[in-house]
Amino acid sequence: MNPATLDTDVSTNLKTTFALQRRHASAMALTTAADRIDRLKRLQQWVLSNEQAIQQAMYADFRKPAPEVTLAEIYAVNSELKFIIRNLKQWMKPQRVPTPLSMVGTTGYIRHEPKGNVLIIAPWNYPFSLMVKPLLAAIAAGNVAMLKPSELTPNTAALLKRMVSEVFPPEEVALFEGDASVAQALLELPFNHIFFTGSPAVGRIVMTAAARHLASVTLELGGKSPAIVDETASITEAAGQIAWGKYLNNGQTCIAPDYLLVHESVKAPFLDAFQKAIQRMYNPDGRGIEVSDSYARIVNRRHFERVRHLIEEAVEKGATVRVGGQTNEAGNFIEPTVLEGVTPDMQVMQEEIFGPVLPVVTYRDKAEVTQHVNAGEKPLALYIHSRNQKNINYFLENTSAGDTVINDTMLQFSHPHIPFGGVNNSGIGKSNGYFGFQEFSNQRGVVRRDFGTFKFIYPPYTDKVRKL
Ligand code: NAD
Repeated sequence: MNPATLDTDVSTNLKTTFALQRRHASAMALTTAADRIDRLKRLQQWVLSNEQAIQQAMYADFRKPAPEVTLAEIYAVNSELKFIIRNLKQWMKPQRVPTPLSMVGTTGYIRHEPKGNVLIIAPWNYPFSLMVKPLLAAIAAGNVAMLKPSELTPNTAALLKRMVSEVFPPEEVALFEGDASVAQALLELPFNHIFFTGSPAVGRIVMTAAARHLASVTLELGGKSPAIVDETASITEAAGQIAWGKYLNNGQTCIAPDYLLVHESVKAPFLDAFQKAIQRMYNPDGRGIEVSDSYARIVNRRHFERVRHLIEEAVEKGATVRVGGQTNEAGNFIEPTVLEGVTPDMQVMQEEIFGPVLPVVTYRDKAEVTQHVNAGEKPLALYIHSRNQKNINYFLENTSAGDTVINDTMLQFSHPHIPFGGVNNSGIGKSNGYFGFQEFSNQRGVVRRDFGTFKFIYPPYTDKVRKL
């Protein structure tokens, strides 16, 4: 974990690449929209011609189903690429701002200039899109970038390395594989901006390191994201949407519904519909979920044991397994699981689950919901399933979250006009489309004097100034 334990060759290579990129940063800053779009198109071409390799790498890493790779990795990257390519010229234009009366004789505008040397550190759960999407924004904004993928998905990391070396010269983009020790050695370097996606615990380490150089940060973190189902919700729809959001990528999604807050009057029909939704999605022919090729796996043995322990500890403390609960350590398989009778002292109600387990909490009064949510950290996502606008407003107005989807799940990640990200413990800063471009840009304010000067404000001060 200590950069001192890092191979000196690797450490020297990081420093040399950083210096190389620093020398090149000013040339990148001068690139036009057309230059940057060229680079983005080269990347797009690479992604489209390597679809199969991308799918194979993630299947090898944790049996991620190919259609999930297509949807949440390749489509996610390609649609963001298209959106940026379409809009970049407009985003890069200096933005005029209004001139207030007190500023008569001036014009003001905002220039988006690149932050410069940026570092992107990615997690393993969407190992392709969560590395490439920030990279697109970094390039669009005219930065040079060093990248560190997760060591838990080595096949995807190796593929990303190949992608970077085939598409970019090292003075523009360079990728370094390795574990936390590589990340920590990178964090020693004086980057201008650090974009980190991962756990809140490591987010704190990143922000502390950034503070040494006063680097700005984007932290895309995680936490416990609730799904609320009130007494007016469309039960079948909500069950399908929550089951999809929960079990996609085997529950290893930062914005997966972590636990359920369901009105007690609809709990029974909801859980019936939820169980049916699981069967429909993962066991349509009755051959068992373990043979489903639509169901991913827990990424490694350590996380498998962690999630299995969450179930076992909850059961020991009095929870009941309403659905699923079967595990098979050969292949890190955990069935889609629903836990009833959970209490706040159980770990499953304290930490981000990041696996296919849905604890169910019931409520009678909507104030119980907001008290429950507000007793914890501000979530990355909060899902509301309701057909009652007053209830929807109540939940929105009395909680805080990075993003909210009403009557569906997960849509915020791929909506190019929605700022994606968390708040405090679930994250700092936003990404997606223009928000990502802004995150990697310094918004430089420019005020130009066109005529006149406010000489009356100069000393010696007169009554005009005193009476302002
Ligand atoms: P993680 O924080 O363990 O690792 C993320 C990255 O940080 C990896 O590249 C890893 O090598 C590096 N790292 C690990 N320990 C480090 C250390 N001590 N110092 C420096 N770098 C270190 O996260 P993970 O397990 O890969 O991903 C799961 C977490 O990420 C969950 O909390 C999830 O909610 C969150 N996440 C958030 C988003 C989002 O967009 N907000 C997306 C995906 C995942």
